Amino acid sequence: MKGRPEYDVVVVGGGPAGSTAACLLGEAGHSVALLEKRTYPRDKVCGGCLSQKTVRFLDRVFSLPVSTLRREGLLDFTGTGYALYIGSRRILAEDLDEPVYFTRRERYDTYLAGRAAQAGVEVHTGAEAAEIDHARRTVTTSDGDRYAARVLIGADGVHSRVRRTLPESVVDMKRWQNNLGWTLELAIPRREAETLANGDGPIRLDDGLATPHLVFAACRWGYGWVFPNREAIVVGIGGLLRMNEKGLPERFEEFLKTVGFSAFTDRKPAGFPLPLGNYISSPAHEGTVLVGDAAGFASPLLGEGIFYAHRTAELAAHAVDRHLTSAAPLAGTYTALLRRRLIPELRAETALRNFLYRCLDARMHVPLAAFMRATDTLVVDAVQGTRSFRGFRRDDDLHSAIW
Ligand SMILES: Cc1cc2nc3c(=O)[nH]c(=O)nc-3n(C[C@H](O)[C@H](O)[C@H](O)COP(=O)(O)OP(=O)(O)OC[C@H]3O[C@@H](n4cnc5c(N)ncnc54)[C@H](O)[C@@H]3O)c2cc1C
Repeated sequence: MKGRPEYDVVVVGGGPAGSTAACLLGEAGHSVALLEKRTYPRDKVCGGCLSQKTVRFLDRVFSLPVSTLRREGLLDFTGTGYALYIGSRRILAEDLDEPVYFTRRERYDTYLAGRAAQAGVEVHTGAEAAEIDHARRTVTTSDGDRYAARVLIGADGVHSRVRRTLPESVVDMKRWQNNLGWTLELAIPRREAETLANGDGPIRLDDGLATPHLVFAACRWGYGWVFPNREAIVVGIGGLLRMNEKGLPERFEEFLKTVGFSAFTDRKPAGFPLPLGNYISSPAHEGTVLVGDAAGFASPLLGEGIFYAHRTAELAAHAVDRHLTSAAPLAGTYTALLRRRLIPELRAETALRNFLYRCLDARMHVPLAAFMRATDTLVVDAVQGTRSFRGFRRDDDLHSAIW
């Protein structure tokens, strides 16, 4: 087994969470190794939607205003409105005050790993963490390379090996399973979607295929989406696994027909799990912390996870820096930051999610539609991060700088 020098930090996983944590800690002067099992550019099953809160984070933390994101080729499409359905019934079709953007994950993630490298981080690709020893703080890759560090960060996504090697006391498995989602997603080349979409479903997509569509009741405790990209139309469906254990493929086929894409029902969608409120409140043990999907941090309502990957990485990086420079307790500092800056928001969003899906289960579509119409700007603001889900008040907890 080949040994490696001791680093301050070893980060496992080079998605948005891992690259953000690695970059911030590299910039703070720590020696950091980032281990990514694949090689860039690598794709990730994802709708690629960047809400305003993500764009704001990228500007604040990476000095990437929208103009630079565009110049770097990180924005593939701009959504200036949205349409929202319950089943095939249109509830809302509105312009957005501020747009949402769509990115391509192979570009986005490659760029961010590059930023980490520029910050002095050693980025090792093709390095799959196979064994993790939390007490010794070592990671051994499937090639037998061993990395030792003072702190380990698990940023290895929803299937996280780092999480699975933590003691049972850290992860409440019942809660994790109860709030774990499952998705099916298909990217249809735009040209084919434009020529083959025959408009034979009850939902008529706009002519230019430029509007993001969200369709509730496409499955149980979840929704369907049609997201525009420049070269593709991304169609997906996702909901809580325990509510959809059987039948998600049939629901997906039905959804394709509903949005007029029956010509594509013979294509095989990609399946992938999605955190939907199963975040771990104290994702830390000894010298290890978890960030992003590895700790279940994503929007409980919509499954939007890129922002939460970035933000938990920022909070964790701050806790790690304080631990390394002033011996602040790692787990305590990180957990306190999560409790102060993120978890109340996720709790409030979970309550809204539960209300919405209970109404749908009870087939209270008419009062729910009225509620959605009455609150649409508030909910859109909360999703965009300009308001809090807690009473829809203006709140900066999601955005305030930590360093
Ligand atoms: C169908 C679908 C649609 C989605 N749509 C959106 C959306 O539109 N907008 C949005 O914000 N979010 C969306 N999400 C959620 C979003 O994709 C995730 O929340 C986000 O990718 C989490 O980032 P991460 O860095 O935590 O994990 P990941 O992006 O999963 O990155 C983890 C990295 O770790 C690496 N890795 C894994 N195991 C190891 C190992 N053992 N050793 C080394 N490396 C390892 C992986 O190769 C990967 O690069 C969607 C998810 C799904 C499934």
